[in-house]
Amino acid sequence: MTDRCSLRCTYCMPEVFSEWLQRAHLLTADEIVEVVSVAVSCGIQTVRLTGGEPLLNPHVVDIVRRVAGLPNAPEISMTTNGLRLGQLAKPLAEAGLSRVNVSLDTLSRQRFFDITRRDRLSQVLDGIAAAGDAGLHPVKVNTLLQRGVNDDEAVPLLRHALANGWRLRFIEQMPLDAGGLWSRSTMITADEILHDLSREFSLTPVPTRGSMPAEEYYVDGGLQIVGVIASVTRPFCGSCDRVRLTADGQVRNCLFARQETDVRATLRDASLNPEQRRTRIAARFQASVHAKAAGHGIDDPAFLQPARPMSAIGG
Ligand code: SAM
Repeated sequence: MTDRCSLRCTYCMPEVFSEWLQRAHLLTADEIVEVVSVAVSCGIQTVRLTGGEPLLNPHVVDIVRRVAGLPNAPEISMTTNGLRLGQLAKPLAEAGLSRVNVSLDTLSRQRFFDITRRDRLSQVLDGIAAAGDAGLHPVKVNTLLQRGVNDDEAVPLLRHALANGWRLRFIEQMPLDAGGLWSRSTMITADEILHDLSREFSLTPVPTRGSMPAEEYYVDGGLQIVGVIASVTRPFCGSCDRVRLTADGQVRNCLFARQETDVRATLRDASLNPEQRRTRIAARFQASVHAKAAGHGIDDPAFLQPARPMSAIGG
């Protein structure tokens, strides 16, 4: 939806960032809806709006409404930092949004500031509450733990999530930061997180996973669930059915892809009539999906981090 963000999480963007996508290259609302419409006609069943911060796209409610109105409308969800959910949760739900994932790494105001470089914890908590009030259930909360920063918060965060009806998911840190600072030796692994949680809670694996990135567990024999997205130590590439469209109109068949398929040029090719344009976009989309690699290759000694940071890929 955009590569712009209102936070500057240390593991995602540097404090001072200037390599923004060119404005002229950003897809308009009409173009986004057109590509989604083609993707849906090719069989895409769920659409997740992300970024950057998707709620910074001024057309976000309109885009949700138009995608929800497509024939064979997909389920629509969103990954957001939650800062604007206080104002937008209700209009988004009314427009057709089904669910949100809100990113939150700590319950401490000082740590929130240290991680995001902004003093906005209370706004995020208000946003999560607004999402619940608007019926965007289950409200999922994504947490990234970093050693020596917030790695003592797995248990308190899960306790808070259970008390507030959030579905918490821990995400392993991936080599996608703009600063290239990721290190395998210091990242917090799924094993460590589950070990920590198991000292306080009993965790029973949820049997069906399908193509979901999260391994899920019932907590203390009840119906509440916690998840771990272990992209690095327990990759799930074999069942990954995701494909991404960047804010500047490039199709990416993996978070870690180093090649992209341009659909912006096709969208803007004045020599094509609308039907030719749709056919060509569908062909490009399908070619990208067919070329999906067997795995992300993080463990390959020849692995190279993608040139785009997470904020410009769409996390
Ligand atoms: N701005 C929105 C948000 O905060 O949720 C959406 C975009 S953000 C890039 C999406 C998710 O990616 C967040 O949950 C964030 O924690 C996660 N993320 C960012 N950089 C990451 C990294 N290097 N490894 C793993 N997850 C990362």
